[in-house]
Amino acid sequence: MDYIAEAQKYLFQNYTRFPISFEKGEGVYLYDENGKRYLDLLSGIAVNILGYNHPKLTQAICEQSKKIIHISNLFHIKPQIEVAKILVQNSCGDKVFFCNSGAESNEAAIKLARRYFYDKKEKRYEIITFEGSFHGRTLATVTATAQPKYHEGFEPLPEGFKYAKFNDIDSVKELILEKTAGIMIELIQGEGGVNPADKNFIKELYNLTREKGLLFIVDEVQTGIGRTGKLFAYQHYDIEPDIITLAKGLGGGVPIGAVIAKEDIAKSFIPGTHASTFGGNYLATTAAKVVLEEVLKDNFLNEVLEKGEFFKEKLKEIGLSAKGIGLMIGVDMPENIDSKEIVKKALQNGLIIGTAGKNTLRFVPPLIITKEEIEEAIKILKNCL
Ligand SMILES: *Cc1c(COP(=O)(O)O)cnc(C)c1O
Repeated sequence: MDYIAEAQKYLFQNYTRFPISFEKGEGVYLYDENGKRYLDLLSGIAVNILGYNHPKLTQAICEQSKKIIHISNLFHIKPQIEVAKILVQNSCGDKVFFCNSGAESNEAAIKLARRYFYDKKEKRYEIITFEGSFHGRTLATVTATAQPKYHEGFEPLPEGFKYAKFNDIDSVKELILEKTAGIMIELIQGEGGVNPADKNFIKELYNLTREKGLLFIVDEVQTGIGRTGKLFAYQHYDIEPDIITLAKGLGGGVPIGAVIAKEDIAKSFIPGTHASTFGGNYLATTAAKVVLEEVLKDNFLNEVLEKGEFFKEKLKEIGLSAKGIGLMIGVDMPENIDSKEIVKKALQNGLIIGTAGKNTLRFVPPLIITKEEIEEAIKILKNCL
């Protein structure tokens, strides 16, 4: 079957796809339909944190699917409650809402911020986000995404968003008005090019929100669930966000999103205000429970930090200067080298990596990767440069 021709015939042509189709995976390796093996440092875009065919995750999903996959939130769902408990006990938040993707969790956070001030009878609704950010593709989250290329042709965009400069506190101060409800930020911008926020900037930004009574919303869709060597990236900074959004890694590949909020904010979502049919279903939360149990095991997170440092050292040895924390790593390529060409060459040589921002190589491997596998990746990468 010529699947590429059929893809062109039957699918929306909204993605630029590589002419490859995978059949199976094992650990950090993928195998295409010709049996060619690839070392995967992209993890389905920072999603498959336990790699492929993880025995516990696979078994849990199989067993749960024989019982109930979905039942709706008209009933109590035990694994959903268990996952919420783990998230609350390991974060600064008090309550959890489940949905199905990153865009949905940010959409919920934006609605929650508006509703919180509505309940307080304050006319505040505007959210400040940052240039280079990425928050999703729904109309509200794409508007929160402060990159004009994502807005083109979708106007009129919803009101209530302003854009400040990342790592520039004065640019935030200039935008704060009586109608400002909060700020939404990625502590390491992912799609924008793996750009970590400065510690001082975040401290000042956080203090500013405390001073002005604004909500501090952290988009941890990509940075959350161990990616940076802590369960949440905010734990690298000395802050306590009011709202945290999650998705990508949380289900280890099964779609799930979540919003964690402080009690007095979460209570604004009374019955009828916000909901999701699929959100937090048996299958997704059973997967998330396994993922969290694995990530919270002794030393797992320390090893992510350690492997991240090892990875950056090895990149340095082949002449690449890396940025990022834990296993969320980027390398800005010089203008004369096109990062997309490196990605293509790497693929031909059995290595899957990604790009981000203007010309940044992106590495977001499964968190279970070993130092030996990192060394193997570096060897292939060296040959591609
Ligand atoms: C991927 C991503 C999103 C969007 O998630 P989807 O599941 O694609 O909707 C939002 N925020 C950040 C930081 C992301 O990396």
